[in-house]
Amino acid sequence: DAAANRIAAGEVVERPASAIKELVENSIDAQARRIEIAYADGGKTLIRVSDDGHGIPEYQLPLALSRHATSKIDGTDLLNIRSFGFRGEALPSMGAVGRLSVKSRVANAASGAEIVVDGGVIAPVRPVATPHGTVVELRNLFHATPARLKFLRTDRAEAGAISDVIKRLAMAEPSIGFTLRDVSGGGAGRVVFRADPESGDLFDALHGRLRSVLGAEFADNCLPVDATRDGMSLTGYASLPTFSRGNAMAQFLFVNGRPVKDKLLIGALRGAYSDFLHAGRYPVVALFLECDPEQVDVNVHPAKAEVRFREPGLARGLMISGLRHALTGAGH
Ligand code: ADP
Ligand code: MG
Repeated sequence: DAAANRIAAGEVVERPASAIKELVENSIDAQARRIEIAYADGGKTLIRVSDDGHGIPEYQLPLALSRHATSKIDGTDLLNIRSFGFRGEALPSMGAVGRLSVKSRVANAASGAEIVVDGGVIAPVRPVATPHGTVVELRNLFHATPARLKFLRTDRAEAGAISDVIKRLAMAEPSIGFTLRDVSGGGAGRVVFRADPESGDLFDALHGRLRSVLGAEFADNCLPVDATRDGMSLTGYASLPTFSRGNAMAQFLFVNGRPVKDKLLIGALRGAYSDFLHAGRYPVVALFLECDPEQVDVNVHPAKAEVRFREPGLARGLMISGLRHALTGAGH
């Protein structure tokens, strides 16, 4: 039933940025070292994610496109989810709402293979020349469902949402190189964002990545945060209260490596800075909260970035004490 599949697909893929998020997360799960993302017309006509990850063996290509097939979890361990994917829904959903092509070549394979699915109809796998890794292309998202197409915003707004998703994932994975291109009108396109792979320890790598994502001025005006409490840890960087260039988009929060936009954490961030910041200024942060996976439910909604803590007071307390310690330690 193609109609039911299209409705379900909208839950995972509601706009170009959510499709790109799923594809880039797949590349990260595949241990890619470099990920290239391209879009045209705000992602409405074309989305392409290319990686140098481990690839998909030819015989597994049809499986990758079938609903609830995932290679990442066996179903017995739903709480201990560390990889991004685990539902096996992203690729089938995209194949239901557009024209999806997946090209892949695993290491040592003589050639690559491609599978195409258009509006839910899967064509046979065929051999294709492609570099080691995976290239996923989604064309004409929602062309079969004009009602959904109407809900998309302007190309510019959709492109902004794509850029935001990529910057959050890039911040989460400093060792991976990211390039984001707008290829509207064809050709090599225009580089919208680029971050080269960072090396070194966690703080060095993150500081380098901060520079790529938020700029030199922030990188030179931030403090390290490093706190633990009751089995939870908080690490990363936070802006000096005197930093005046912040905005609400420049708050990067991660729980167990996953980008989140969580009201509880954002509220705690505001609380931690309340005594230090001038009115109208925003703290800028890249903060990683790590805890036992049993302490947090990241599975609230597939496309949203909310989480649910078993003990919200713990997470909030750690955010406030960890940040205040960093801010006061610097003499403010
Ligand atoms: P999930 O990520 O939840 O497993 P997806 O529908 O996103 O489900 O992907 C289905 C499967 O296709 C994955 O489990 C993985 O085996 C394979 N796959 C998808 N994208 C890639 C990629 N870029 N590199 C390697 N394998 C991939
Ligand atoms: Mg996935």
